[in-house]
Amino acid sequence: MVLDLLAIPGVSGDEKRVAERIVHWLVEAGCPRAAISFDNAHTKTPTAGNVGNLIVKLPGTRPGPRRLLMAHMDTVPVCLGAKPKVSGRFVASADPATGLGADDRAGCAVVLSTALEILRQGLDHPPLTLLFAIQEEVGLYGARFVRAADLGRPRLAFNFDGGAVEKITVGATGGYRMDIAVTGLPSHAGVAPEKGVSAIAIAALAIADLVAGGWHGLVEKDGKRGTSNVGTIHAGSATNVVADAALLRAEARSHDPAFRARIVKAIETAFQSAAKRVKAADGTTGRVTIDGRLDYEAFRLEADEPCVVEATAAVRAVGLTPRPEVSNGGLDANWMAVNGVPTVTLGCGQMEIHTTKERLDLEAFETACRVALRLATGG
Ligand SMILES: [Zn+2]
Repeated sequence: MVLDLLAIPGVSGDEKRVAERIVHWLVEAGCPRAAISFDNAHTKTPTAGNVGNLIVKLPGTRPGPRRLLMAHMDTVPVCLGAKPKVSGRFVASADPATGLGADDRAGCAVVLSTALEILRQGLDHPPLTLLFAIQEEVGLYGARFVRAADLGRPRLAFNFDGGAVEKITVGATGGYRMDIAVTGLPSHAGVAPEKGVSAIAIAALAIADLVAGGWHGLVEKDGKRGTSNVGTIHAGSATNVVADAALLRAEARSHDPAFRARIVKAIETAFQSAAKRVKAADGTTGRVTIDGRLDYEAFRLEADEPCVVEATAAVRAVGLTPRPEVSNGGLDANWMAVNGVPTVTLGCGQMEIHTTKERLDLEAFETACRVALRLATGG
């Protein structure tokens, strides 16, 4: 079944065939159609998708707090056209030009096989929700736009994504992205440079300030830690024109929201102050406008959070040593936390994700399925 899901093309926004295949398997195993629904998350995303989040809600065969198992259906573009092929203990794409897409079809397969096992064997379980999320790779959109009420307000939530089974991700950093538009004044660089205001000069001064002040790259101040990066810069048209525009994209990250805000403020201040320092002969200055947005908020689960306690016990029960981690990238779990569903993330045996060398360790995958079954049934 994992090979079946890996073979379906489905980059972000094009998850419909994956969702249909999952529904097919569920219905075949006896899942009532009425338990299966889709939300409209794909209508809120920057690029419209062809399907929303797939949500399956099963009433419990015994009472207890509702549990949620989730994974994301989309894969990164390098995995488009993957030809999953088993060799020994691993699955990889037979086409060396593509990745496998085990991130995160293997996660979908873990969640789906858990549901199929429960349905086929008639296993006892508390109220259960399955969430197959869309558009994780392009901005965590499925988890961002899902509504806790549609999920039945689960109390314990488990996300299956890339990495080793024993890796238990209990927190992740928060990320902020900025588009910085610098407006200068054009002029002939040879005839009348003093009549111009160089947008490139403004950007350069600002970046130099950030570097000199310790606000670019790894940022460590007063015991706090974060990162920042000016990642792109587009400016200028010819050597004989004073550049009248520069467009830059930058980001700031920190596990500490207040410190991340300080980094953002430092970037804003650097650009605004640089704009005042580059003047034309008549005193005209340039202008900077910054458009920023929070990509995802940081989160950190407590050690006694029920999903963390259960995930740790389940990993131990299969003979592995749990390895708690805090991620420096965003996860669907970032938005699940914002939406009121604290979620712990476990791996499924995927290796070298987002590359053409991606492969799935089938032994680890089977172990993840055993962990997931324990988490779903609560025993
Ligand atoms: Zn993933």
